[in-house]
Amino acid sequence: MKQENRKRKVAVIGTGFVGMSFAYAAAFEGICDELVLIDVNEEKALGEAMDLNHGLAFCKANMLIYAGDYPDCKDADVVVICAGAAQKPGESRIALLQKNKVIFETIIDSLKEAGFQGIFLVATNPVDILTRLTKELSGFPENKVIGSGTTLDTARLRYLLGAHFNVDPKNVHAYVIGEHGDSELVPWSQAFIGTKPILEIVKEYPQKFNEEELCNMAVDVKEAAYKIIAAKKASYYGIGLSLLRIVKAILGDENSILTVSTSLSSAYEQTEVFAGVPCVLGRNGVQGILKLQLTEKETEAFWHSVEKLDGIFLECH
Ligand code: NAD
Repeated sequence: MKQENRKRKVAVIGTGFVGMSFAYAAAFEGICDELVLIDVNEEKALGEAMDLNHGLAFCKANMLIYAGDYPDCKDADVVVICAGAAQKPGESRIALLQKNKVIFETIIDSLKEAGFQGIFLVATNPVDILTRLTKELSGFPENKVIGSGTTLDTARLRYLLGAHFNVDPKNVHAYVIGEHGDSELVPWSQAFIGTKPILEIVKEYPQKFNEEELCNMAVDVKEAAYKIIAAKKASYYGIGLSLLRIVKAILGDENSILTVSTSLSSAYEQTEVFAGVPCVLGRNGVQGILKLQLTEKETEAFWHSVEKLDGIFLECH
């Protein structure tokens, strides 16, 4: 079949807040021809499919949306996994991880049994650990197992920097890398407004900007999820749109750069850890890692984050 005649098919597993925020955006944007919704709570998936279909007349393109099951994933291009238990107050991350690990074992087994051969995109937390687990359970090649990683954190950073310097976030080129979580970092040496380094701008206009504000901004990005969860119990629009951006890059074979969670082994031979780094994304998933020229301090913080992720992964095994 010719590439241009191929149907683009996406499956969402877990039709909760995150899964449906992605599905809503995907339907509105018309990014695929077929959208399958799967949940252990079949009635919820049915209701969500009905609700989305009722808005189809106002979406950008027609598409087939339905509640399905794993065999429907056989010919899916991308499966977006948003299923899982949410963290309960007082529950440790490791305890949550053990719960989600069991859920992932069932999901990945069912997808393998269905003959799925597309690209895994994981959003469930802790995302870097569960993406590495997906790679291990599926036996898929590394390029085809992707986590949302620090895509959302990077979008949050670009939004804050855009507001701070009064420029369009699209012209802010800066990344959050490492764990999607407490040990993530912003390599400021690699942050630009247009093509101008942000650290140079700060030096040039000391009366307007300073480095302390940048550090606070990195903390704000790191703590954003906690604040949103405290205010409205869950965060989902931002991640929904981040997942949309990633799936668009894959289906459109864009070779766009996004900070997804990927195996670091292709760029850093000594580790199989999955962490958020800038990656070139296209039809085959991760086509390559953009290896950044970090300062000594940034390198240290990055490896601290990577080692933390490795420790958690080994602990949950
Ligand atoms: P939610 O509770 O609203 O939805 C989870 C859904 O998963 C539910 O509908 C549930 O029925 C379903 N589910 C549970 N077990 C399943 C199974 N075995 N098979 C299929 N479906 C199953 O939670 P949410 O707010 O949508 O969050 C989902 C995940 O996304 C959480 O782990 C959350 O921490 C994570 N998240 C990630 C990011 C990120 O940046 N990666 C951001 C926000 C939230």
